Amino acid sequence: MISAQSLNALYRAPGALPASEPARPWLAVVTCMDGRVVPDRSLGVGARDVFVVRNAGGRVSNDALRSLIVACEVKGVEEIVVIEHTDCAMVAMSDQQLRDAVRADLGVDATLVEFLAIDDQDGCVRSDVALLRSSPYIPGNVVVTGFVCDTDTGMLRLVEGDAGSRLPAAAMAPGAAAAAPVRARGGARFSLLPGVELL
Ligand SMILES: [Zn+2]
Repeated sequence: MISAQSLNALYRAPGALPASEPARPWLAVVTCMDGRVVPDRSLGVGARDVFVVRNAGGRVSNDALRSLIVACEVKGVEEIVVIEHTDCAMVAMSDQQLRDAVRADLGVDATLVEFLAIDDQDGCVRSDVALLRSSPYIPGNVVVTGFVCDTDTGMLRLVEGDAGSRLPAAAMAPGAAAAAPVRARGGARFSLLPGVELL
């Protein structure tokens, strides 16, 4: 049975961060809600160094931007990293397929929902990095880089680097990584049925 006591026991389970460890986040990550992506491990930084903003696909949506503005303005974050990942369901389907699935399952019109499906993963990472670099809401001295994470290994592939990054993996020349082929849409399933993994 779930109780306050049992929840407290979970919080103090082995592996949980000690409460004495100070939280001084200097980095914000935008990544997919897929739990296979563990950004602090992949980036080699402490869990308390990072604000993690998750959504479907790891896109810089309006709401992601809202959190990033707070991270920079209120918490003094110095770097932002965009991390998309391999085997992401948002690469395998289009906005229209998602809208069609919602209509078929729920009978409602989702035309106004912008799902931000991914048709060119490297291109999306680059455009989201560019969006943040040019955003008037993000301080100009904040370093922005972009990666794709291999969910089998946790390893990152640099898509858009910046020589000013504190992250060794990101401090490469911008555009140094080779472009990956565009993944074709189709073949993916989408369902709103409980228990069906979407991502
Ligand atoms: Zn994903």
